Amino acid sequence: MIIAFDDTDSRNTGMCTTYLGALLFEELQQYGKITNEPLLIRLNPTIPYKTRGNAAVALQIETERPEEVISHVIERVEDFAQFQDENTNPGVVFIHAGQVESCREELANFFLETVRQVITIDRAKEIISRNKLEARGYKNGRGLIGALAASGAALAEKWDYTYELLAYRQPENWGTLRRVDDESVWKADNATYPETWDNVDMSNNLVVCVPHSVDPVLYGIRGKNKAAIRETADTIEGENTERTLLYRTNQGTDMHLIPASFIEDLQDLHSYTIQLKVTSIPHTIEGGHTFFQSTDERGNTIDCAAFEPTKNFRELVRKLIPEDIVVLSGSVKEGTFNIEKLEIKKLETKSELVNPTCSSCGKKMKSAGKNQGYRCRNCKTTASELEMVEIPRELEIGIYEVPPCARRHLSMPLIRRDKDGYIHPSR
Ligand code: ATP
Repeated sequence: MIIAFDDTDSRNTGMCTTYLGALLFEELQQYGKITNEPLLIRLNPTIPYKTRGNAAVALQIETERPEEVISHVIERVEDFAQFQDENTNPGVVFIHAGQVESCREELANFFLETVRQVITIDRAKEIISRNKLEARGYKNGRGLIGALAASGAALAEKWDYTYELLAYRQPENWGTLRRVDDESVWKADNATYPETWDNVDMSNNLVVCVPHSVDPVLYGIRGKNKAAIRETADTIEGENTERTLLYRTNQGTDMHLIPASFIEDLQDLHSYTIQLKVTSIPHTIEGGHTFFQSTDERGNTIDCAAFEPTKNFRELVRKLIPEDIVVLSGSVKEGTFNIEKLEIKKLETKSELVNPTCSSCGKKMKSAGKNQGYRCRNCKTTASELEMVEIPRELEIGIYEVPPCARRHLSMPLIRRDKDGYIHPSR
């Protein structure tokens, strides 16, 4: 059977749905055999109700005692969920072995939809009741959306995936300053990158695999190669951990990005990849956010932004000029395109008028006086008009990304793509 749950934690208290997943992964083994790699699913990153990373968890168990599994899971959700927070609305979904085939296709599609679209609670409830699934929704039941989507991930046959090993703190340390030796993280990263990624952010000199929130996670190691992930975790020195769990995940896959052709198709709270033409010189406002306008083939325009947390990425964005052709990936919020990745397809030629060059000595001519053209003082050559010269762009064609410190869980790091020189990974 599949067990999936979501929305158990709160921003103010030290819990995390993935921690409950790690506990249940161990505890449920008394009822049978866990048959899949535990799943950590990231859903639509723009959803306003999310606590942090919009995560949900699914486990799969082969058991002769499904009723005991259900009671155990419900008891643990009720123990751990932060019900006092008005924004915590837990949801749990169970799919019995006999129901798997009949709902596989619908739930697999629901998984993709929940990563990309905005889903209503009623829609999740309708699917649950039509498929006669056992489920428990607490308070407004919003967690049923994520739980149902995570169960769909367990059923979906094919989706790109990576791994994240999560190390959890001893409960007595929760809420206190994390003790991790930064140097050991740099060393670990150096040994395993690019098999693991987003441990550190080199351009901003930051350790990024250690969170700062109140949750029980000490660090999370991301990658595709399980041995390299374990090696990284083994190299990191710091406070004792309580437990670790290696999750299979849709993080780092770009699953949230919807291909789009026209600005009129873009909706708030959705994420896209779209080709546009830059139409304004980027400007930076107080607070450090950088904006420019761009247009599609139909002449509609949209504001595009590289916000302050994207740090050095903004320097790149500021070098764009009107007529550059770019492919942007990112999400739309309040009508503004929030850039995660920027592909420069075509760079407009930048030029300026300068004094003409002397054909004989190669030096710049000087003005010969008002309305009298230009003259080389040494060679006495003359020219009547200024010369148009090309200015180097200081930008290269290629794909760029925000630095690791600003990366969305779902965004695919460029290092996962072909290493053909066209990509410019940010490390
Ligand atoms: P947690 O650790 O509790 O899972 P989180 O950051 O993952 O924290 P949640 O507290 O789960 O965020 O809040 C996200 C809520 O939004 C959940 O109730 C989830 O069911 C719901 N949700 C997720 N994706 C969508 C979506 N695409 N449309 C509507 N609601 C969604």
